[in-house]
Amino acid sequence: MEEKLLKPYNPKETEERIYKLWEDSGFFNPDNLPDERHKSFTIVMPPPNANGDLHAGHTLFITLEDIMIRYKRMAGFKTLWLPGADHAGFETQVVYEKKLEKEGRSRFGMDPNDLYKEILDFTLLNKKNMETQVRSLGASCDWSREKFTLDPDVVEKTQDTFVKMYNDKIIYRGKRAINWCYKHQTSLSEVETESSEELSPLFYLKYGPFSIATVRPETKFGDKYVVMHPDDKRYAEYKHGQKIKLEWINGPIEATIIKDEAIDMEFGTGVMTITPWHSQIDFEIAKRHDLDTEQIIDWRGKLLGIANEFAGMNIKDARAKIVEKLKAKGLLIKIDEKYQNVIKKCYKCGTVIEPQIKDQWFVKMAPLTKLALNSVNRGEIKFIPDNYEKIFRYWMENSIDWNISRQIVWGIPIPAWFKGEEFKVSKEKPNGEGWTKDPDTFDTWFSSGQWPLMTTGFPKHEDFKKYYPTDVMETGHDLIFKWVPRMVIFGLYLAQKAPFHTVYLHGLVNDAQGKKMSKSKGNVINPLTLTDKYGTDALRMALIVGNTPGTDLALQENKVKGYKHFANKIWNITRFVLDNTKDVEPANASALIDECNKTIKDVTEDMENFRFYLASEKLYHYLWHRYADEIIEESKKNEEVKKSLFYILENSLKLLHPFMPFITEEIWSILPARKNLLMVEKWPLAKLGASDQKKNDNK
Ligand SMILES: [Zn+2]
Repeated sequence: MEEKLLKPYNPKETEERIYKLWEDSGFFNPDNLPDERHKSFTIVMPPPNANGDLHAGHTLFITLEDIMIRYKRMAGFKTLWLPGADHAGFETQVVYEKKLEKEGRSRFGMDPNDLYKEILDFTLLNKKNMETQVRSLGASCDWSREKFTLDPDVVEKTQDTFVKMYNDKIIYRGKRAINWCYKHQTSLSEVETESSEELSPLFYLKYGPFSIATVRPETKFGDKYVVMHPDDKRYAEYKHGQKIKLEWINGPIEATIIKDEAIDMEFGTGVMTITPWHSQIDFEIAKRHDLDTEQIIDWRGKLLGIANEFAGMNIKDARAKIVEKLKAKGLLIKIDEKYQNVIKKCYKCGTVIEPQIKDQWFVKMAPLTKLALNSVNRGEIKFIPDNYEKIFRYWMENSIDWNISRQIVWGIPIPAWFKGEEFKVSKEKPNGEGWTKDPDTFDTWFSSGQWPLMTTGFPKHEDFKKYYPTDVMETGHDLIFKWVPRMVIFGLYLAQKAPFHTVYLHGLVNDAQGKKMSKSKGNVINPLTLTDKYGTDALRMALIVGNTPGTDLALQENKVKGYKHFANKIWNITRFVLDNTKDVEPANASALIDECNKTIKDVTEDMENFRFYLASEKLYHYLWHRYADEIIEESKKNEEVKKSLFYILENSLKLLHPFMPFITEEIWSILPARKNLLMVEKWPLAKLGASDQKKNDNK
């Protein structure tokens, strides 16, 4: 009897040693797998942000992907799981700014190069920490191929793509109303904002002969166009282009009548004035009619000179005072206190987004989303769960041009140069005097969107030929509109092939009560505390059993504890079987072996169909409630039963390995006459026995 088995199973003493065994074997790298394998199976790991500790969500995706990879490796595929680390542009800069704030410093006023260097040091330190944590979860990924989103070749290729898209006229530079965060001093894309409905007062103001409604009287100083629908009979007497004189906030003005079909006749009085600099819709109207635009609020949220006595005042403080003045001048008609208003906020800091007109780089989305939709229509991409196909389509059918310029230093520089109003797109500085570099960096999704291409070495690397398109993209369901479509788009645009055929989306990992974890609520569960206490295998099982794709999971410590007991149970089963079958001639066939084969068949079908939540649960019940509680008990009374025990143990360990890799590998090394690591053993084939055959014949 192996001495180890006499003591209880100790994950702490086992896990690091086993992981080293795997890593040293070289089998994480598909080039080193022991036998000839023709079919490949590839997953590109969503690169965790290298700006802090792994959270419970990371633990779930690492477990899910490791299950897929370990299963396919045992099933004879040339498996590549390609890990990465994300510099995470804006996200990391936000984390770093908080750190600076704590130290009583600020990024504003810092030399951009110094700031960049500080954030780089911070990120590289966190990257090491993150990699250690990914290893501790048992991830069987190929570290020799690891990529960082700021690796020189990634930077190079991202810039190449930008130049190509500019030359293909898919990227343009232009003035448009963008989403501006006052706190972070950068523009943001649509997906970096969050919209919510809030009750806001709606102010009805007297604008000459009209009554106009607005939630933002503080932006109205410069309003000199009054717009109505051309079909609105109430205002038929007014002609497009007609001028009217009227008294406004800071004195008499001349306003111009504009007729435009974008006006909602049902909203307010059907008439509105426009503030093109601070509203996307107004900006579009102004563009259609070639109207003047003027900035009212500066980049810090303060009113400009046009506001007269209010100039320099923060818009938050100004509103009440402006309303007071409107009232005093008799321009305030009424206030509707309960207006349902959609408010857009910065997804990181909650600051209300200000539309501002700014020269930025934009990606024309229409030609690209068409590629993505066609690919889905041709059935090239399957979504699990399948209702996400609809969400994917919605985002593809409703996307507006994508602003990829960010006013932050932490990212890949945009290869463009300016001289006055002139600009050039080029990685090298243009000839001639006076060119300055675009200080902006790319939206991080611009490079992350190309991740499956970057990691496989598009366009020329051997890996690209072997492993692209990859197989599965497994990621959080919230990335269905941020990341997944961009990868599809770039894959189709650059390589003419979708980067994966299956998208598996997991839900959030919430606290034990099902509430979203957040630092401010103080309900964050650190997964590493749980693995420390109960072992990594136990946490992996707790995350997988019963966790259907796309749905959120409540992580309960008791559940993790339960699977620690399960690990102990398997340990004790092994001890019993090895102790009691030493001199037993194993059976080749029996009803129990048939039953085990039925389990193999069932579990294999579940694995093939991404039903890991079911496969794991079946194995748990089979091993504990059938094998341990009944079969082993029976074997104490019936010698015949003993002949089948080893067969069941051996095959169960194989089936359980993707879910609980550490304990199964450890036991495997104890079983008599083991040559291979369990991780590269062949996945069991279900041999349907005589009794099963009969059942099938009767059907
Ligand atoms: Zn912000």
